[in-house]
Amino acid sequence: MPELPEVETTKRGISPHIKNNTVTEVIVRKHQLRWPVSPEISQLLPGQKIIDVQRRAKYLLLKTTIGTLMIHLGMSGSLRIIKAPETEKKHDHIDILFKDGICLRYHDPRRFGAYIWTNKPINEHKLIRKLGPEPLTDFFNIDDFYTKARLRSLPIKSFIMDAHMVVGVGNIYASESLFLSNIHPKRASNKISKQRLNNLLVAIKTTLNKSIEQGGSTLKDFVNSDGKPGYFQQTLNVYSRKNKPCSQCSTPIKQITIGQRSTFYCPKCQH
Ligand SMILES: [Zn+2]
Repeated sequence: MPELPEVETTKRGISPHIKNNTVTEVIVRKHQLRWPVSPEISQLLPGQKIIDVQRRAKYLLLKTTIGTLMIHLGMSGSLRIIKAPETEKKHDHIDILFKDGICLRYHDPRRFGAYIWTNKPINEHKLIRKLGPEPLTDFFNIDDFYTKARLRSLPIKSFIMDAHMVVGVGNIYASESLFLSNIHPKRASNKISKQRLNNLLVAIKTTLNKSIEQGGSTLKDFVNSDGKPGYFQQTLNVYSRKNKPCSQCSTPIKQITIGQRSTFYCPKCQH
């Protein structure tokens, strides 16, 4: 599933090609993704210039002067830039064509993605307005994090995966960040010192940034590649490593379930 680093990398990959470029046509082959594709996208977008490409949580935001196209990649969606005409393949559901001849093509076998049009300020949109801060900005800081953690008594792993608390900490990143900060994934959020929470906050930022950096090397794949852009897997310390030796102490990694999600940790290093 595309996580925040993949969405950020997608933004960086497509932005230079479509920013300040004008849409000429939108072709929607499948109208039903997670929700119906907003009809305004075919009606209003042609003729509009994309003035900026932004990201909020896992939404890509293609901004115009009359509104914003919100794209979510769902479980299996991917975007790429096509520079020369190319016949669409199975699951290539939406094309946005531009004045200079390029095409932004959306591919999504499981069709859990979304193409939504809004003319409201984006922060007031119902899918966005209740989201927590972006993890890589100063809005995600220790004072705020500590205050919120004191108010809840949730396993810390569930707490950091709650999008109202902070966005973009997916299942893999949660296990990895907790390992890096030596915190047991089941420890109650209100029973962790400010210092240890700060270690966790730093680990979350580091883990996400590392993944985005690795994604940077795949940026060329957004143009004219046959497959989907390479989603990337950084070296994992605990995730998916059940019974394998901990990289720090050689104790076998344990797997448990928290909030219906697989969770991996070292029983010796994390407490
Ligand atoms: Zn260990």
